[in-house]
Amino acid sequence: MALIKCFDCGKEISDRAGTCPFCGCPISELLESGETVKIKPLPVVNAEWAIVDTHLGSGDQKVSILSNGKTIWEGRAGDVAELSFVQPTDIDIKYHMSFWCNGGKGSGTIDPARCKTYVIFAQHTVFTTKLELRPVDASEADF
Ligand SMILES: [Zn+2]
Repeated sequence: MALIKCFDCGKEISDRAGTCPFCGCPISELLESGETVKIKPLPVVNAEWAIVDTHLGSGDQKVSILSNGKTIWEGRAGDVAELSFVQPTDIDIKYHMSFWCNGGKGSGTIDPARCKTYVIFAQHTVFTTKLELRPVDASEADF
């Protein structure tokens, strides 16, 4: 069981609740009607170290996507996360430290009504990896 925020009143409730005990919002119905969103965390691009192939960071860079402080997906840069969202949701992104690249953190909003494909751009800098979540047209992304 996980705690989620009610889509209507915003109070914390169980994701197994059929309806919200506070306001009666039909939680299970809404969860089932969630939209699948694809998020692709791209391999880290290394700006200063041009001699290194830009894909070197991809093989071992672990990526986590979090919502409300809870991990909702874990994978590697270059993988595609397929997640279900019912409403605009703020997510946090974490690239873990790898042999070639620093770790980094970023955040953004997934809005399933407006866009169903997103990419995470990752730029290596001296101290950290800068992350940026961008909605993209599915046809322009290499999913
Ligand atoms: Zn509610």
